[in-house]
Amino acid sequence: MFVTGSAGHESGLRDEDTGPAKRVATMAGRERVDSLTFIGTATTVLRLGPFKILTDPNYLHRGQRAYLGKGLWSRRITEPAMLPQHLPRLDLVVLSHLHGDHFDRVARRMLDKSVPVITTPHAERRLRQWGFESHGLQPWARHEERRGDHLLTVESVPAIHARGLMGRLLPPVMGSVLEHSVGGVVDRRVYISGDTLTGDHLDAIAEAHPDIDTAVVHLGGTRVLFHTVTMDAAQGVDFLRRIRPRQAIPVHHSDYPVFRSPLSQFLLQARGAVPGVEVRVAEGGVRLPL
Ligand SMILES: [Zn+2]
Repeated sequence: MFVTGSAGHESGLRDEDTGPAKRVATMAGRERVDSLTFIGTATTVLRLGPFKILTDPNYLHRGQRAYLGKGLWSRRITEPAMLPQHLPRLDLVVLSHLHGDHFDRVARRMLDKSVPVITTPHAERRLRQWGFESHGLQPWARHEERRGDHLLTVESVPAIHARGLMGRLLPPVMGSVLEHSVGGVVDRRVYISGDTLTGDHLDAIAEAHPDIDTAVVHLGGTRVLFHTVTMDAAQGVDFLRRIRPRQAIPVHHSDYPVFRSPLSQFLLQARGAVPGVEVRVAEGGVRLPL
């Protein structure tokens, strides 16, 4: 494994691309580059062909509190790199679960409610009450979006936020595999882990998808009520061993005091641990070509 930084600063969110990544001709004949722009926590803008996808929108400012359920709060210690009003026109929002560090009151107020939110059945119910177009997926179920020749599928895959009693106190979570095809040929697969621990459930995902191009890995080693409820550095390395993506982009590592496992620790432990996996650090607001 080797570690690389971001390339290509983003000057606002624009459609023109300058990065060296694979180019995809669009219906309009223009060229685009698939990319990920990290905004903070697990919030990213993914561009896959003509599709623009927002993940786990967390727009609270530094000092504001995210509700984590059961009377628990955590105060954000970072600023989002971009505000909702600067988002491009979105095709989808993909939401792993309904926790205050993944969908907050700013997102609820500011996002366009007509953009479909693909999420768990649990989160779908609440989002519909808030007026959002929303689709809840059971594990392994898929949602499809089509634009001419281009097809984007979002498949819900298992995620385990915590085991035992603690697991029952937290909302259900899903991972998601986003697959972009052009004319029936798969162009790219992106797997977003969601807030999950490592474990056998990941092996089932690797078996179903042995050819993940990019894994967006929720880390942080989040500690809630004396339990670890997201992957720490060692679990993150185990995740890479099980999933074996071509590249991995860590997110969900620096934004709240409950995130106890720093990114630096993961980068240190991941170095050389899994041959063939490139770990890439996404800086806030910088468009990373995939
Ligand atoms: Zn979280």
